[in-house]
Amino acid sequence: MRIIDGKICAQQVKNQIAKEVAEIKAKGQRPPRLDIFLVGDRPDSLSYVHTKDKTCRALGMDSQLHLLPDTTTESELMVMIDECNRNDDVDAILIQLPLPDHYNSARVLDFIDYRKDADGLHLMNVGLLHLGEPYVMPCTPKGILSLLETNGIEVSGEHVVMIGRSQLVGEPTAQLLIHKNATVTLCHSRTKNLSEIAHLGDIVITAVGCPNLLQPYDFKQGAVLIDVAMNRVNGKLQGDVYSEETRPELEKRLRACTPVPGGVGPMTIAMLMQNVLDIYKLRMQNPS
Ligand code: NAP
Repeated sequence: MRIIDGKICAQQVKNQIAKEVAEIKAKGQRPPRLDIFLVGDRPDSLSYVHTKDKTCRALGMDSQLHLLPDTTTESELMVMIDECNRNDDVDAILIQLPLPDHYNSARVLDFIDYRKDADGLHLMNVGLLHLGEPYVMPCTPKGILSLLETNGIEVSGEHVVMIGRSQLVGEPTAQLLIHKNATVTLCHSRTKNLSEIAHLGDIVITAVGCPNLLQPYDFKQGAVLIDVAMNRVNGKLQGDVYSEETRPELEKRLRACTPVPGGVGPMTIAMLMQNVLDIYKLRMQNPS
């Protein structure tokens, strides 16, 4: 079984971004800039935004981190987003999710200028993705596709079983794969006979958040598993299927598999950085 190493793929993407940003700066142009908003002090969210901020800077791009108290109102946040929408020096905007309960997340996300939407979650970008003409792709689905491509795993004509239908991962991944000519079955919490369906998949992608969702024998011989989930069990990270315990049996069964950690996770942040650079380039070509 081939281990699909997300850390290596992500590093290659980041090296290329750093090279391009250095070339931009060498021409005397300003670097791409990302503005990140976090409302509240959830420790996991704080850690995510600091990693995004640090990675952005490490690649030579600008990053502005807006850490806002829980008491910030939706209208106050929108005023700040509006300032970023209007500021020509801001290329990309990211709202760290989840927002506190008193926010209407969809309304906030749709307030971002869709041409600056670093996460590709604006309604316009969701629509364009459905039409097969994405302007900005959501980071995790884009990372999954990139991992498959760079590891020589063909999706055209293959049966992909996508488990999980969230707006963040499952649904956009299914859309992307349909436009890459995969035959996609989209499963969710009401799906009956999940193991039987999984067994039909040439490629199975799990994005649920439920350890031991499937067992190694649920996969057909030679299948590919992309395990997106990050479940903390007894202090250790594991996927919906992949863990230190299941790996030996998975090795006998699968053609290729992403580990957890070190699979899809590192790609998500690399794709965010790629989105910031791509948005910058589009804005330079078509200044508003
Ligand atoms: P989510 O919004 O909670 O969605 C979970 C999905 O799983 C839902 O569509 C749900 O179905 C479905 N589901 C729940 N129980 C199921 C079951 N027993 N059988 C089949 N489907 C079931 O979660 P998410 O944001 O997509 O994240 C999913 C996982 O991926 C989490 O572990 C998260 O930490 C991880 N994640 C990882 C990355 C990364 O970069 N590696 C990025 C994002 C998320 P319904 O729609 O019917 O409720």
